[in-house]
Amino acid sequence: MAEKAIFISGGASGIGRAVATLFAAKGWRVGIGDVDAAAMAATADALGVEAHALDVRDYDQWVAVLNAFTRGGPLHVLHNNAGIAQGGPYGEIGRDEIDRVTDINFRGVLYGARAAFPHLARTPGSCLLNTASASAIWGAPGLSAYSATKFGVRGLTEALDGEWAAAGIRVRSLMPGFIDTPLLKASIAGSNQTAREKVVEAGLEFTPVEEVAQAAWDLVHSDKALHAHVGPTARRLAFAARWLPG
Ligand code: NAD
Repeated sequence: MAEKAIFISGGASGIGRAVATLFAAKGWRVGIGDVDAAAMAATADALGVEAHALDVRDYDQWVAVLNAFTRGGPLHVLHNNAGIAQGGPYGEIGRDEIDRVTDINFRGVLYGARAAFPHLARTPGSCLLNTASASAIWGAPGLSAYSATKFGVRGLTEALDGEWAAAGIRVRSLMPGFIDTPLLKASIAGSNQTAREKVVEAGLEFTPVEEVAQAAWDLVHSDKALHAHVGPTARRLAFAARWLPG
C-alpha cells in the first residue's frame, strides 16, 4: 500500500505543527507550507518533514507547491490550517486589517481547496480538512471579522462535503475553542489586567494543541462527523472575546 501523505498549511507553528507531529509519528509522509521561513525550517528539522515556502494568499504558489509535494506520492489529506487573529475591534480596524484577515483566513482556504482538488480526486479515501474555529459556531464579539471568515470556512466545508462526495473526497473542519498557541498568546499578551481576570473567570483555560491534533486524526478517519469542536464552548469563547484587547 502506498505511504499516506498530508500537506499542512501554517504547519510551522501551533496546531499545524502538532498535526504534523502526530501524523509523522503515525508513519505518514508530511509536508508543511508556511510564510515564516525560519519557524518552518526549525519545525521541518525537528520532525523530519518536508518544507515548502507558501503564502496561502497566492493561488499560483498553491498550485506549484502541491505539484511539487505530490511528485513524492499521492495526496491523501490537505489540511487548510494557516490563519491569523484579528487585530482590533471591528469599529476601529482599517480596511487593511479587513483585507489581511479575509485574504489569509478565507480566500487562502478557498485557494487551497481548489488547488488540491485534482490531487485529492486521484487518491481513494482522500480528505480536505479545514481549520475553522469555535467562532464558526457562535460569532465572537471582538473577533467579528475573524468569526466571519471562520463561518465562511464552515460553509465551504459543508458545501464541498456534499459536492465532492461523488469524487470520493470527504471534507471536514476543526473548530478549536481556546488553544495554547502563539496566535492566541499574542492576543492575550496585550490584554489589560481586567481582561485577563475575565478570561480566568470565564474558565477559559488553554487546551493543549495535542488534543486538536488527535481530533484532526479522528476526523480524517471518520465517515460520519463533519466537524470536531475542541476546547471550551463557543458561548464561553464569545464571552471571553469581549475582554480581549482592542
Ligand atoms: P499559529 O500562529 O501558532 O500558527 C499559524 C501559522 O500560520 C504560523 O506558522 C504562520 O506563520 C502561518 N501563516 C500565517 N499567515 C500565513 C500565510 N499567509 N501563508 C502561509 N502560512 C501563514 O496559530 P494557531 O493557533 O496554530 O492557528 C492555526 C489555525 O487555528 C488558524 O486558522 C487559527 O485561526 C485556528 N484557530 C486557533 C485557535 C486558538 O485558540 N489558537 C482557535 C480556533 C482556531
